[in-house]
Amino acid sequence: MARLIDSGPGCPTPTPLRGRSAAEARGLAYDDAVKAETDPLYPLVADFVTPMEWPAIAPLVAGINRLKKAKNAVILAHNYMTPDIFSLVGDFRGDSLQLAREASATDAAIIVQAGVHFMAETSKILAPEKTVLIPDTRAGCSLAASITGADVRLIKQKFPDYPIVTYVNCTADVKAECHITCTSSNAAQVVEHIAKAWNTDTVILVPDQYLAKNVAAQTGIRILTWPGACEVHEQFSGEDVKQLREAHPGVIILAHPECPPDVLQEADFAGSTSALSNYVSENQPNKVVLLTECSMSDNVAAENPNVNFIRPCNLCPHMKRITLENIYDCLVTGQHEVTIPEDVRVRAKAALDAMLALPKMARPLAFKTGQVPLELEMVI
Ligand code: SF4
Repeated sequence: MARLIDSGPGCPTPTPLRGRSAAEARGLAYDDAVKAETDPLYPLVADFVTPMEWPAIAPLVAGINRLKKAKNAVILAHNYMTPDIFSLVGDFRGDSLQLAREASATDAAIIVQAGVHFMAETSKILAPEKTVLIPDTRAGCSLAASITGADVRLIKQKFPDYPIVTYVNCTADVKAECHITCTSSNAAQVVEHIAKAWNTDTVILVPDQYLAKNVAAQTGIRILTWPGACEVHEQFSGEDVKQLREAHPGVIILAHPECPPDVLQEADFAGSTSALSNYVSENQPNKVVLLTECSMSDNVAAENPNVNFIRPCNLCPHMKRITLENIYDCLVTGQHEVTIPEDVRVRAKAALDAMLALPKMARPLAFKTGQVPLELEMVI
């Protein structure tokens, strides 16, 4: 259990350190108007924000919500955002597939991506006429950083007969070189679809080697992959799952498919962040562990007060770069606009559109657990 900090149900993800000066420095005060607007929202984050901290946070929340109205902006909040962002200022919440669909459907003029940079690029690809802002340009991703468009061009030269699927956790350059994208909600569906469309038994799935191994175990299709990994999920192991069971008898263990396959082998249920959230809402387990990014547990816990969450803590340092302060600042200044060369955007959109054209699933696919881990051939 060395890497897991079991912080217990009373100890959610730490809030960013902030004093009243963060709001005051921006000319914002916890005055009567702000109190009237925001105090009814406090119960949404009462397990996460203390009453003493609230006067420092409420003016930022009110400021952001006022700016959104004034500028016709929306905030797309990923499931890994801290609860203050997720519950208090997010207009649309969910996993990357849900947010991508919202980006293409919204009438707003400005999209603020409360997530990481590749997600903001995805919004821009799907909604080129909109201004897309990322509050901190350093909000990257170990998976997106693991592969480039030039790498994919080399893969295509080496394997011209196989379709290339890319997980959406990659740059626009990479999407532009691939035949179709997938998310953790629909990866098995996409791989089966493209194998049939190309009349092949072999598909290349980049850049997440663990997602690829977990999909291969579901589909029976031969998958070649790339040695990328999520720096958050790769820290979990099957041994951790066994230790959690010993420490918490009766606990239900849910895992994200970016975890290594030995984690899914030991888990009770596996799926995308939406699938994990649905599982908890529908089954109301007495005691549960979500093997994914920490803030996800905080956000699902807020919606399921009768479920006891054991919280092994692995934070994504990139997601945690997004704060109420830099969301406020980007709405004021319009800074950190995401742009993509049009030829790249058009080709990347073709890969996203190929995925979005597939029949919409009634619910995100669950991954089978208890499967023996597979080893896959790498394309390099
Ligand atoms: S949790 Fe992993 S996959 Fe998601 S943004 Fe962070 S590093 Fe990337």
